[in-house]
Amino acid sequence: MSHDDLRELSGVYALGALEGQDRVRFESHLASCAECAAEVRALRAVGHGLAPIVEQQDPPPALRDRVMARAGASAAEDAVPRRGPAMPRWLAAAAALAAVSIGLYAATLRVRIQTLEIELSDLRTRAVALERDLERVRREADTARGAAFVLAAHDVLRIDLAGQPPAPSATGRVFWSPSRGLVFSAADLPAVPPGRVYQLWVLRGPTDPPVSAGLVHSEPSGTGILSTGPLTIPGATGLAVSLEPEGGVPAPTGDIYLVGRI
Ligand SMILES: [Zn+2]
Repeated sequence: MSHDDLRELSGVYALGALEGQDRVRFESHLASCAECAAEVRALRAVGHGLAPIVEQQDPPPALRDRVMARAGASAAEDAVPRRGPAMPRWLAAAAALAAVSIGLYAATLRVRIQTLEIELSDLRTRAVALERDLERVRREADTARGAAFVLAAHDVLRIDLAGQPPAPSATGRVFWSPSRGLVFSAADLPAVPPGRVYQLWVLRGPTDPPVSAGLVHSEPSGTGILSTGPLTIPGATGLAVSLEPEGGVPAPTGDIYLVGRI
């Protein structure tokens, strides 16, 4: 066999499928032919690279039998002389099996890719939901920390607020530390209409206009406002909550919902 004949066997040899005399002949050629040796090394590297990526999948035995029977039939045809070199029977069988295996790999890979795409989309959805939850928990933790900071102040005052005509059953409570900030909570305040906001005011003497203490960021379950930082307002006599346009106003314009005296 010439170098060209033997070189065609390198693929089968690299896969470990070359046997008998052919294997002996190929290996003795390999010892003296750098080109064939390099090709075998390259093919083996490809085989090893594919192995971990592609799940091994054996064709069903019935299919294997059919392919082998086919290869046998074409070998019988090969017995009739014809032009050109005949492909050995085992090589035809190996090629047919390889084609079947590649088809199965491709089908398996397509299914796996589809499964992974579905899983990835599920994971993205869950990640977005988790991020939202995390953001909410962070906000609640910040609020709780801020409230604890105000409630622990040595100068904290408690002011109870009573419902006014627009919401007679509403109640409110404020903890106010001039040195640290203010915590407000309320019950039974009507839901805020769109485009409006509750605003908390510090009331002063009859001739002094009220001073805004901040907007009430109401939660669906109840209400709450928290502003941290010193809030000293000389001459404060009480607190009130009014319903105002979104964004708040410099002086109260809307209905008063809660009032409490200091
Ligand atoms: Zn060679």
